Amino acid sequence: MMEIANLVRPNIRKLVPYSSARSEFKGKAEVFLDANENPFETGLNRYPDPLQWKLKAAISQLKAVPAEQIFLGNGSDEAIDLVVRIFCEPRQDHILILPPTYGMYQVSADIADVGLRSVSLTPDFQPDVDAILAAADEHSKILFICSPNNPTGNDVELERIRSLCAQFKGIVVVDEAYIDFSNQASCTSLLPEFPNLIVLQTFSKAWGMAGIRLGMAFASIEIIQLFNKVKPPYNINQLTQQIALEALETSQDDYQQLLSTLLSERERLIKGLGELKFVEKIFPSDANFILVKMDDPNGTYQYLVEEGIIVRNRNSVHLCAGSLRITVGRPEENDALLTALNKRP
Ligand SMILES: *Cc1c(COP(=O)(O)O)cnc(C)c1O
Repeated sequence: MMEIANLVRPNIRKLVPYSSARSEFKGKAEVFLDANENPFETGLNRYPDPLQWKLKAAISQLKAVPAEQIFLGNGSDEAIDLVVRIFCEPRQDHILILPPTYGMYQVSADIADVGLRSVSLTPDFQPDVDAILAAADEHSKILFICSPNNPTGNDVELERIRSLCAQFKGIVVVDEAYIDFSNQASCTSLLPEFPNLIVLQTFSKAWGMAGIRLGMAFASIEIIQLFNKVKPPYNINQLTQQIALEALETSQDDYQQLLSTLLSERERLIKGLGELKFVEKIFPSDANFILVKMDDPNGTYQYLVEEGIIVRNRNSVHLCAGSLRITVGRPEENDALLTALNKRP
């Protein structure tokens, strides 16, 4: 078994975390004069639960992961930032990323003054397991895998993830921001096997709640305890906790409905895009966006802007030359996009 403690930065290993008033007192009481809060009820005058146990209990049910193996962050971006700061010694350690992929891994490493090694995905956007293992050394603390991958949209094969978890001698983060749109099972099923695995999910995409900023990390208890030690004490505000809990308790049917609409719209967009003469390739999508290769991507991007439609130009991204990334919208938005593209000069 891998020793997680040996991967942790020495200052984090010996860190004495901030102890908030609410986490020091355990038990029942009527009068709380311990946290310098305003005593008059506004519905929000008290500090929120620093460990969000009620919300975690609901998420635990939905995801079949024990509540003690869940960390909640201010978006998954907070979890990405924390994992870099927990494991990577600035100017000494580095992260491994697999471009083309999500930009925040590099930004978090840059902010922390942590190095970066890149190992390109294969042309069909799968991790090259041997090349990754060959690029790694004792300072390679974290490997970021994004599945389904942004901006390419495809699932990473589970067998490759399993093989990397087993052989990479650091932390493997699998970012599953788009997993709800995929038919592939979540890597949370691999957690009992791999103490070095962290799976990230989010309320920002399929749940339609990017505005509340709520991301989830699932990992071994040991890793979750490190997150809890390093996170700001009240990182998830009361409103976010309430609204997410309410959504989990009452909106599961709406969620399923919206998800199936988005999935059928994705298929409709793929079909419509496939009928355009200037489209060269539509990459398979397991997410709520489609990477499309075409002639004159820059001109097409600009033309769409003039039509009032914004997509993401990925033409200058490694392995994505010629491509635009298009998010699946509401049916009428997708109609507007297809109508505009059909009229492209
Ligand atoms: C959108 C996205 C996220 C979500 O980040 P939040 O901070 O949870 O909104 C995470 N990872 C990837 C790859 C994404 O595309």
